[in-house]
Parts: sequence; structure tokens; C-alpha cells
Amino acid sequence: MRHVDENYEVIVVGGGFAGVAAARTLGRKGVRVLLIDKNPYHQFQPLLYQVATLQLGVSEVARSLRDIFRGQPNIRLVAAEVTGVDAERKRVTTSDGKSYEGRFLILASGAEANFFNTPGAEHTYPLYSVGDAVKVGGTLSNVLEDADRADDGKQLDFVVIGAGPTGVETAGALAETVKYVLPDYFSPWLANRCRVHLVDMVPNVLNVFSDKSKEYAGRRLAAMGVQLHLGTPVAEITEDKVLLKDGTEIPATLVVWAGGLKAGAVVAGSGLPQGRGGRIDVNPDLTAPGFDDVYVLGDAANMTDAKGNKLPQLGSCALQAGTWAAKNILADIEGGGRHRAPFGYVDKGYMAMVGRGSAVAEVGPGPKRVLLNGPLAFLAWLGVHVVLLSGALQKIRAVATWPSDYITHRRSFVVLSRPDGSQFHES
Ligand SMILES: Cc1cc2nc3c(=O)[nH]c(=O)nc-3n(C[C@H](O)[C@H](O)[C@H](O)COP(=O)(O)OP(=O)(O)OC[C@H]3O[C@@H](n4cnc5c(N)ncnc54)[C@H](O)[C@@H]3O)c2cc1C
Repeated sequence: MRHVDENYEVIVVGGGFAGVAAARTLGRKGVRVLLIDKNPYHQFQPLLYQVATLQLGVSEVARSLRDIFRGQPNIRLVAAEVTGVDAERKRVTTSDGKSYEGRFLILASGAEANFFNTPGAEHTYPLYSVGDAVKVGGTLSNVLEDADRADDGKQLDFVVIGAGPTGVETAGALAETVKYVLPDYFSPWLANRCRVHLVDMVPNVLNVFSDKSKEYAGRRLAAMGVQLHLGTPVAEITEDKVLLKDGTEIPATLVVWAGGLKAGAVVAGSGLPQGRGGRIDVNPDLTAPGFDDVYVLGDAANMTDAKGNKLPQLGSCALQAGTWAAKNILADIEGGGRHRAPFGYVDKGYMAMVGRGSAVAEVGPGPKRVLLNGPLAFLAWLGVHVVLLSGALQKIRAVATWPSDYITHRRSFVVLSRPDGSQFHES
């Protein structure tokens, strides 16, 4: 018979922005929480593009969950992959066959790349997790070393598919690596052989931003040498090309997929009714329809604000949802006349880094948004990301590194190794 550990008041699946915020809020009130994540670390997606472009190492974007919850004995951490969810019983099963049951269940298992059945998607590198970013960065490093060794004058083409914030940030950072890093660490000749391409089916970059931000970001990327291929969908990806539906063939040495996300396998296998992007259309109080004590948060959910407006897949949104769900659970546990409340999201706007010294930021709630671009937006981006970073050490490193990168033009060039210690070159 399988062992079921039933001593938890709340089971949290996923130690991302939403899961950590929920566990933290509950933990401070002495609630007994079990947090399960397939990795023993919390990952900071907003900076993955810097790992993928060899500007940051893994320790700057991943923080041990045990460090985050150090000194909180009522929070138990289990590093295991959740493979089954029984929403009715608020029970989850992990890949080692263990089951855990609680009074409340929080699913905060994030998302994964959505390739929309694009033929040849296996030739691309998605960018959602630390593991993904390490693969992109390691492959980029291999490609550059091979090209430098071969010294055969062949052109290198780095293609980013998807011109949302992730794609824009990645293409911008690749262009900067080509411009500032390669001449310094390799040679100007190698830098001259590199091209960066950004592809999207919509006719502009940063589609959810205002026209002013779209126009600014497109102009800056072009000035940085990024070749924009907008307004045509990708037809197919091969080993060495990206083919567009209008017949354009883009040579491709390395293709990064930033083309979209869908809810991950935990949610897909939960039996809960899935909506747009495979996510769960949650109730205003963030519970799953028909399951009063099951919460679905962050990138795993389609959440709305108190007025019913759809909320974006953003770190700040996931974080606020985690805290809110925990407060709703505390209202149930502690009683005292408190009741669950619909999610009251505080919209702080959104932003994207285009390149050194240039970003776009749309700050504040919807109708009152203040549009910033250029160095001011760059500073706003730095401030917001320092606040979002979870560890004091990471904050200090970021504050120490980013301004000097900005002032000196100097970029670091990090070494990435695979978690199993093998060389990137071997497969
Ligand atoms: C490249 C990139 C850049 C981004 N940049 C920004 C930005 O600049 N600003 C911003 O606000 N937002 C940004 N976002 C969005 C933001 O990162 C997400 O909205 C946010 O991380 C969602 O939080 P979450 O807690 O729902 O999921 P996640 O943070 O993805 O956490 C999910 C957790 O669940 C775990 N998990 C998944 N499956 C299992 C399983 N089967 N078993 C156990 N554990 C599991 C994962 O390991 C992970 O730790 C970015 C996203 C990406 C991908």
C-alpha cells in the first residue's frame, strides 16, 4: 500500500513566485506547509535571457529554496516531480510513488513552452527555466568556440522566434554580446560574422505594449543590428534554417524559442477544466471551479482582477496571487469573522529591457500608465528587478554589477557547465 503523508494543512506545488509567496505568508502564521518543487531552487525568469547570452551565471538567477525558508520549521520542502494530482482529495503524487495530502492544495507549477505544432520545433531551444537558459548559453558558447577554432569565415546566425518581452530581451542581449563581448573575448572578425534575427508573426515587437514603446523598441533593436522579420508566421524550422510562410529563408546556427507558453504538465494532468493556454480559469478568489480548497495561481492559471479583467503572466502578478491565496486560506483556518476575498491585483505596469541603457517601461495602473523609454526606463527596470530578486546576496550582486556594466560597456562572459558535469560539446 502507498504511504500517504497527511499531516499538512497546505500542500504547495511549485516554488516559483506564486508558490514561494504563498508558503512564506502561511509559514509566518505557523501553518504547516509542504512545498514540493522538482528543483531544489527558486528560479528568477526575468534574468534568464542574461544566462542564455552568457552575461550571468546560474547562482544569480537560482536561489536555494532551503535558504529562502531557513529557520521556518513548519515549512517542509521536498524536491520531487509531481506526476499526479487528485483535486477532489487534495492529494498529489510524486515520481517516486509517494503521495501527500493536505486540507488545502495550491497548484503553482508555472508554464512551459508552447510550440503551437510548428514543424521542426525540436531544432529550437526554449527559454523558460534555468535548465533551458543553461542549454542556450552552453550551445552559444560551443558555437562561438567552434567558429573561432575553424576560422573559416562562415556566417553565424542567431535567430530568436517571438518578439514579446523575452524575445526582445534575448535578441537585444545577443546583439550586445556580438558588439561588446566578441571583439574583446574573441576577435572583431568573429563579431563581424554574426547576425541576430528576431522573428514574429505580428507586425511589431512587444505587441502588448503601447504604440510608442513598440516603435521605440523596434527602432533601438534595428540600431543595435538586429534584423527584424515581422508580420509573417514561421512555416518550419530545419537544422540550419527558419522558413517563413512568405518564402523567406533565414539561415540559422542557433534558434531560441520565445514564441509562447502554455500551462505545464501538472495542470494538464489534474483533470481540472483547462481554458486559454491550457491554464485553469480560476474563480475570483483564485480557487479552481468546483473545488473550494484547491487554488491555482500564476502562470498555471487564467486569473482576473476584481473587475473581471484578464491578468498578465507576470512575476509580480504571480507573487501577489500567492500572497492573496495564502490570506484566503488563513481566513478559513483562523476564522474570526474573516472571509475569502476576490483577488485585488495591484497593477504596476510592465517593462522590457531592449539593451544597455535602453528599456521600455509602462508604469502604473492601466488608464494612468506613464510611458518611459531610454535610460529612465532602464533605471526603472533595474529598480523593479532588484526588488523582485529574492535573496539579499543576489540583490547586492545585481546592484554592484548592472550600473558598472552600463557605465563601462564591459560585459562579463560566464562559463556554464551542465548540472551532470558533462561538457556541453559532448552531445
Ligand atoms: C524568460 C522569461 C522572462 C520573464 N521576464 C519577466 C519580467 O521581466 N517581469 C515579470 O514580471 N515577469 C517576467 N516573466 C514572467 C514570470 O517569470 C512568470 O509570470 C512567473 O515566473 C510565474 O510564476 P509562477 O510561480 O506561476 O511560476 P514559475 O515561476 O514558473 O514557478 C513554477 C515552479 O513550479 C515548478 N514545477 C513545475 N512543474 C513541476 C512538477 N511537475 N513538479 C514539481 N514542481 C514543478 C518549477 O520548477 C518552478 O519552480 C518572464 C518569464 C520568462 C519565461
